[in-house]
Parts: sequence; structure tokens; C-alpha cells
Amino acid sequence: MHLWFLRRCCWLLTLIATAVAQTRLPPEPPATAALVRYEFMAPHMGTLFRIVLFAPTASAAETAAAAAFARVAELNRIMSDYDANSEVMQLRRQPAGIAVAVSAELFDLLQRSQQLAEKSGGAFDVTLGPVVRLWREARRTRQLPTAAERAAAQRASGYTKLRLNPAARTITLLAPGMQLDFGGIAKGYAADEALAVLARLGLAHAMVAASGDLALGDAPPGKLGWKVEIEPFGHPSREPWIIVAANVGISTSGDTEQFADIGGVRYSHIVDPATALGLTKPVAVTVIAQQATLSDGLATACSVLAIGAREKLAGCLGDSARAIVLRQDQCGMIQRETFGSNPPGLHTP
Ligand code: ADP
Ligand code: MG
Repeated sequence: MHLWFLRRCCWLLTLIATAVAQTRLPPEPPATAALVRYEFMAPHMGTLFRIVLFAPTASAAETAAAAAFARVAELNRIMSDYDANSEVMQLRRQPAGIAVAVSAELFDLLQRSQQLAEKSGGAFDVTLGPVVRLWREARRTRQLPTAAERAAAQRASGYTKLRLNPAARTITLLAPGMQLDFGGIAKGYAADEALAVLARLGLAHAMVAASGDLALGDAPPGKLGWKVEIEPFGHPSREPWIIVAANVGISTSGDTEQFADIGGVRYSHIVDPATALGLTKPVAVTVIAQQATLSDGLATACSVLAIGAREKLAGCLGDSARAIVLRQDQCGMIQRETFGSNPPGLHTP
């Protein structure tokens, strides 16, 4: 059943950075003259970042894109868990129970992550580093971790064991062996920050895509919004879902590319904090929220909550985020459900 789901229901997020003309939408504003569309791509954070922007000159476009990519690289030097010298990796070498001063960016992201952890009851939790690391190793070796290994990783995880002190901008990891992992939110955050750089340089008609995480700025000149197509993989006959939006973040998470088959069971790279194992129930979630930081974290949280915690999922979204959840039911059929409310700037669905 999982293979069937794999073939049929993995989602491909296709971005079309052109604007939309749809008869049922309100009339579009007049076009701003003399802005030209430019597109840039660069590898960052283990994926390809893509910028689409509208600028008066090629040199303005290039300067702004370079500054935006530089900001992403700067954030990677803080958040990466592949770079032994990143701020996050240095934190791992600190003893438990000691308050440590951190960068403004790390503190900001931790505050937002903790809010999301509380809202989702820990379904999204950046302190799951030990569990994520254990799980990464299991995916590599195709060997499930033992119960003792999972219990140890769980003891060294948990958002309630992280203290933030905003006045001193320090953090305290209370349990020994705790490790932060921003894999579920860093790309969205970086996309937002890159978009903010473009806006500060006067290029507000722009979008930044970090694989499945998009930060959309002002709509293309003269258009109502950016058009994002979400295609159900393996369903060429089905119409893709079209989202038309500006000034929002859109993220897709779930049982897509990164998975492992262990003992005939398909496991996701998203871990369930309750089991310290990857998710096994096929699910894919797209979230639209006010910013990509939030949509990225929420998409990960909703993937965990989509299985049997529908009320919590709806509560977690609040009143300005919408989630589209694809889930396989007991009969093997794919169910599409939507939760939450449209954030401002979302024109469809
Ligand atoms: P993708 O990286 O494919 O966009 P996500 O945004 O869902 O997908 O991020 C998955 C990553 O988030 C994992 O590789 C891991 O680093 C981290 N992660 C896994 N499970 C959780 C969780 N429950 N809460 C927070 N982060 C998680
Ligand atoms: Mg995420």
C-alpha cells in the first residue's frame, strides 16, 4: 500500500513565477512600468535556492540577489548541523545547565520555534536533535534504533527542557546531551530573510524558493499574486491545485523525497517525538501562512499531527494559516482535507 501511495501521491511542488489571469479573480492592479523580471539560482543549505524578482535594471537585480544569497549563507553558518563550526554545532559542546549567549538570529528563531512547539504540543520541536540524529543514522544503515537508544535520545530532547532568557539573550539546555536541529524551519526562515533583504533594497516584487519552502513578496507588477501549482504526483489526469498569493509563506512537507525503507516499512525523515521514529503513515501537507518561517514549521508539525490529532492540528494553525493535508485512509484511498483559515494575501484556494 505504501508503494502504491509512493508512486501515486508524492507531491511535486511546481513554482510558476508568472502571474495569474483568472476570470473569477478580482481585476488586477495596473502594471508598474519599466520593471523587468529576473531569476537567480544558487545552492545553499543542501538545496537549490531560487529568487524571482522584478527590477528596473539588471545591475540592481544582480546586486540584490547577491545580497539575498549572502544572507542565506550567513544564516547557514549559524544554523547548519553539517558545518562543525556553526553556532548550533558549537552549542553542542557546552555542558548542560549553563546559560549561553547566542546570536540575535538564533535567539529569534528559537523563540518562534518554542511558540510553535507549545502550540503543537511538541509535534514540532527543534530540541529533537538527538532523535533526528539517531534517525538519520537508522536511515543510513537501514537498522532501526533499539528501544534503549530511542529512550536515551528522548531523554535528551524536549522543548520544555530549553530555557530562553530574552533580557540577556541567553539559552539554557537543561538536560545532558541536548542538541538543537533546525532542519524543519531553517529553510523557511532563510527564505523570509532573503526576501526581506530584497525588500530593503527596494525590490518588493519578489519571491524566494528554498525547494518546498516559498517566501512570496509583493505580487508581480500588475498582477494579483504569484501562481503556485501543486501537482499530485502520478496523477497527470488530475488538475494541479493552484494557489494565488502574495506576501505569504507556502511550505510543503511530508512523505516526499526523503524516506527510508526499513524491513518493508516506509519511514519519513520527519520524526514523531512520541516514538522517536520516522513517521510511517503516508501524509503530505502544504501550509500557507503569513511567513515562510511559520509555514515551514507548521508543515512539519501538521505532518506529525495529521495522523489522529485533527483537533490539535486545527488549533495549531490558529486563525491565519491554512493547511491542505493529503492522507491515506483505512481503505487506502487518498483523502484531501483543509484546515485553518486563509491568511491575508491568499486569493485561492
Ligand atoms: P523538508 O526538509 O523536506 O522541507 P521539513 O521542513 O518537514 O521537510 O523538515 C524535516 C527536517 O526537520 C528533518 O530532516 C529534521 O532535521 C527536522 N525534523 C524532523 N522531525 C521534526 C519534528 N517533529 N520537529 C521539528 N523538526 C523535525
Ligand atoms: Mg518544515
